[in-house]
Amino acid sequence: MNVEKIYRDANALLEGHFLLSSGNHSRFYLQSAKVLENPKTAETLAKELASQIKKYNLKIDTVCSPALGGVLAGYELARSLGVRFIFAERVNKKMTIRRGFEIVKGENILMCEDIITTGGSALEAAKVAIDMGANIVGYAALANRGFCKRVGSDLETSPTCKLPSNLPFFALEDFKFDIYEPENCPLCKDGSIAHKPGSRGN
Ligand code: ZN
Repeated sequence: MNVEKIYRDANALLEGHFLLSSGNHSRFYLQSAKVLENPKTAETLAKELASQIKKYNLKIDTVCSPALGGVLAGYELARSLGVRFIFAERVNKKMTIRRGFEIVKGENILMCEDIITTGGSALEAAKVAIDMGANIVGYAALANRGFCKRVGSDLETSPTCKLPSNLPFFALEDFKFDIYEPENCPLCKDGSIAHKPGSRGN
């Protein structure tokens, strides 16, 4: 499966000259919600991710995602795996699992995001699930920003990755982009101006 092409075709992988929220510049930007705009595409990606996970023979009872970004990806993944789905959400900045979702003691939960950067939100949601009795069996995402090592990739984990190293992390593709400080940005040197993603109709 050519995951990068699917992202490009969905306008989820943008190419240009972007001003990131960190203040740095990049040639690429991942608008990851766009790839899930079409439910058929979401289903295709989730099925592929599920097939990779199934090879690992994990016992999975439930998929859990941090809202909002992870919910669509996690729901489709749960459908493909044939298990139930719950989500965690922030209330006053604190991650919680509510809405009547219950976790039985020892329930095997796979955490799922649409995209993993450092994995911070997924880890926070996992901690809440663990407090409710869950056994976290692994992490999954459609896309990996390349800071955490996923199963089957040669990219090494960077120190910024927050996911536990003793659990498998599954993702379909690494999207590792060069990030430039504005004063060292080759795109600026070529005379173009960085713009915020979304400000030009993307
Ligand atoms: Zn620049």
